[in-house]
Amino acid sequence: MFKRILIANRGEIAMRVIRACRELGIRTVVIYAECDATAIYVKKADEAHLIGPDPVQGFLDMQAIVDLAKRSGVDGIHPGYGFLSENAEFAKLCAASGITFIGPSPKAIRLMGNKVQAREIARKAGVPIVPGTEKSVTNPTQALSFAARTGYPLMVKASMGGGGRGLHVVRNDQELLTKMEVSRREALSSFGNGEIFLEKYIERPHHIEFQILADKHGNIIHLGERDCSIQRRHQKLIEIAPSLVLDKELRARMGEAAIAVAKAVNYDNAGTVEFLLDPNRNFYFIEMNTRIQVEHTVTEQITAIDLVRSQIEIAAGLPLEFSQEDVTLQGYAIQCRINAEDPRNNFRPCTGTVTAYFSPGGIGVRIDGMAYKDYTIPPYYDALLAKLVVRGRTWEETVSRAHRSLEEFVLRGVKTTIPFMKRIMEDPDFQAGRFDTSFLKLHPELFDFEEYTDPEDLVVALSTAIVAYEGL
Ligand code: ADP
Ligand code: ADP
Ligand code: MG
Repeated sequence: MFKRILIANRGEIAMRVIRACRELGIRTVVIYAECDATAIYVKKADEAHLIGPDPVQGFLDMQAIVDLAKRSGVDGIHPGYGFLSENAEFAKLCAASGITFIGPSPKAIRLMGNKVQAREIARKAGVPIVPGTEKSVTNPTQALSFAARTGYPLMVKASMGGGGRGLHVVRNDQELLTKMEVSRREALSSFGNGEIFLEKYIERPHHIEFQILADKHGNIIHLGERDCSIQRRHQKLIEIAPSLVLDKELRARMGEAAIAVAKAVNYDNAGTVEFLLDPNRNFYFIEMNTRIQVEHTVTEQITAIDLVRSQIEIAAGLPLEFSQEDVTLQGYAIQCRINAEDPRNNFRPCTGTVTAYFSPGGIGVRIDGMAYKDYTIPPYYDALLAKLVVRGRTWEETVSRAHRSLEEFVLRGVKTTIPFMKRIMEDPDFQAGRFDTSFLKLHPELFDFEEYTDPEDLVVALSTAIVAYEGL
């Protein structure tokens, strides 16, 4: 087992890895930028190192991270999500330096990092893919000829894309030609690679993804699915496990398909195979994420399996402790991404200082977060402040628990998604499980949510009083 792990990440996911390491008796080393000097993960790690002046580059500087790891006597590096987590070169560099990269092989990362290639792998493994171009599209003639054969709407996608960037729905030739160029530019600036391709746009699908765990001894299982259909700008906002629309039979079939895709690249460690499920219950592979995902929490809540602990054990060469039959899904879980952003202003990221903080608690409530009173949100990173994850026995109970927890949640001084999330939990369609990826577009009234009504000074006084009372 590892003795010392470097976490090449920050924020809530760094905290998540620290927690798993503590339970395993592993020491932790983190890196941080000046703006995060007072961050919780920096305080909780056994060792913290300030990186260079640029708040982002330090998390992307592979050589500097590996050099630091060697100097600190680290034997494993956990990349979290984002940053270097899906960078095959980094995984290779770790291995070449005698440090274990806690994730899949460089080869699996590379093969799945390109969506065009990943689609081909899935197709060869007998898994349905969204009808699309077999190769990347390099000129308008190719694009127009695919459009003529397939019909609109189509989706323009970046081959190396992630985080919802470079995706555009197009409904005619003119839009296609325009958005191809937009997507290419976005892809080039976000991913350093302007390759794009086209897919048929599936109308009103569910985003259904399967959590995979595979060890280095050939054991591979799935931990059921997550429904991540509540999205804005093709980015997830609320994630649910299990899906309300899958039955046992479809779960088994999609789970097998997910495993087939992972096996095709000799996958090991934790990974996610993403599908779209259309209204006629046809499913199509869209991509594989070769890392821990933001929403891994909901799977943990219904399986009682610690995914980060599993990642570490697998990387250490241990065999999986459970088989497919051992995995049972109990109840429901919902994750709300509490972002520092303004839903009414196209979810524009907000920065500021937290003036009052009180986190919800009680039965079935989990917070993976990084905020506290006086914390100043740096403008350089993702807007994710905390993940509120609730579990319950039934869907109804879980929704009401999410609503109650959002009501309890005090996070002031900056706009957050809390009041908007609360409004969603009150929506009859959401409560009845009537939603797909078009949910927020089809419910503009949800943006009429009520902001906090109590004056700020009362909230500050109350949250201080509650903390004092709980501390008695
Ligand atoms: P999920 O883990 O559910 O896919 P996100 O799509 O929000 O969640 O991605 C997780 C994190 O990784 C976010 O910080 C996102 O911005 C970042 N990310 C995902 N893919 C890429 C990529 N290809 N390049 C850069 N950042 C990415
Ligand atoms: P990313 O790598 O940015 O996560 P994905 O390919 O996973 O990109 O797609 C993100 C989201 O965009 C999906 O969850 C879905 O809502 C939407 N999407 C992607 N491809 C299609 C498609 N062919 N038809 C309809 N929606 C799509
Ligand atoms: Mg995706």
